[in-house]
Amino acid sequence: MRSAIIFWYYIVIALIVIVSLVFVDFSQINQTVRLVLVLALVLLVANPLLQVWVTKGGETRLRHILGDPNVELQLRAQEVEKQMEKLRTENEHLKELDKGKSEFVAMTAHQLRTPLSAIKWTFHMITNGDLGPVTPEQRSFLDKGYAEAEKVITVVNDWLNLDYLEANRGKYQMVPSDISELIDGVVFEFNERLRNKNINMIVERPKNNMPKIMIDPIKFSMLMENLMDNALKYTSPGGKIIIGVNDDQLNSAKPEIEVKVADSGIGIPKAEQEKIFQQFFRSSNATAVAPRGSGLGLYIVKQLAEGHGGKVRFESEEGKGTTFFVTIPAETKKV
Ligand code: ADP
Repeated sequence: MRSAIIFWYYIVIALIVIVSLVFVDFSQINQTVRLVLVLALVLLVANPLLQVWVTKGGETRLRHILGDPNVELQLRAQEVEKQMEKLRTENEHLKELDKGKSEFVAMTAHQLRTPLSAIKWTFHMITNGDLGPVTPEQRSFLDKGYAEAEKVITVVNDWLNLDYLEANRGKYQMVPSDISELIDGVVFEFNERLRNKNINMIVERPKNNMPKIMIDPIKFSMLMENLMDNALKYTSPGGKIIIGVNDDQLNSAKPEIEVKVADSGIGIPKAEQEKIFQQFFRSSNATAVAPRGSGLGLYIVKQLAEGHGGKVRFESEEGKGTTFFVTIPAETKKV
């Protein structure tokens, strides 16, 4: 519409100029006609200048001064667009930095893992008496060394898991899987630590015989391992951990299952609860109980739950315990 008006504007002006040039004897023309011609030429030049003025926001500013309410919105929209452009550029920059950070973390983690494992197994061999008899006092120091090496290995493994997740973002191998079997596998891995800490471990089975559901078994196990590791880490000796599967919504219009990991541990302070899914965040009470931790476990859990199309939430009371609930869409495939 705007360009059609401009087109006709030029045609009319051009016609006035041409007609004047062809038919008018300039020596004879009177003052008025001369004035019309000058005016036409001024308009011919003024239009492109006007266009430049409009595109540079002059018109909007003028209408703003005159109090046009639409202009206020237009100006705000322009401002938002400018800010968005700035954010897009900053986001690109952050992504670059993040990529650099991930590569650095992955490389460092790989370099650390082998020597750390060697240190851990050396402690193990000496404690076992493989290199000669050990006094009880020596054994207590060796046990501490072994435990410390194991903690650092856990942190390094978190880094590597995160790197694996970022490299495999969106690559989920969904296959029909038996949830109970996967949970048993995870609990089995923790048996020794559960025993050492004298934790009462309870697995609550679903009410019905559950069909297999479509999940990525490796990633689901990784999710459960992170929740179990936390439950164990943040629960005092003699405490309790419950893993439960709720299949109430399995046959609903939006079929899903909910897996919970509940513990009777230290809980999460109210004021810090909103931050716990952030990378590297650790609550104030956690560092006292478990000085070493990467602050990546729950971030990984969230990525994995969302990667399955699900979500994770929790309820916690400081000093009483924490329960994490993971909900995953349950597409069933009878095989
Ligand atoms: P990490 O355990 O290595 O510190 P996570 O990302 O797994 O890192 O957890 C982040 C924080 O959330 C922990 O530092 C702790 O403060 C809190 N948290 C997670 N799970 C529990 C739990 N079961 N009980 C109490 N606090 C927890």
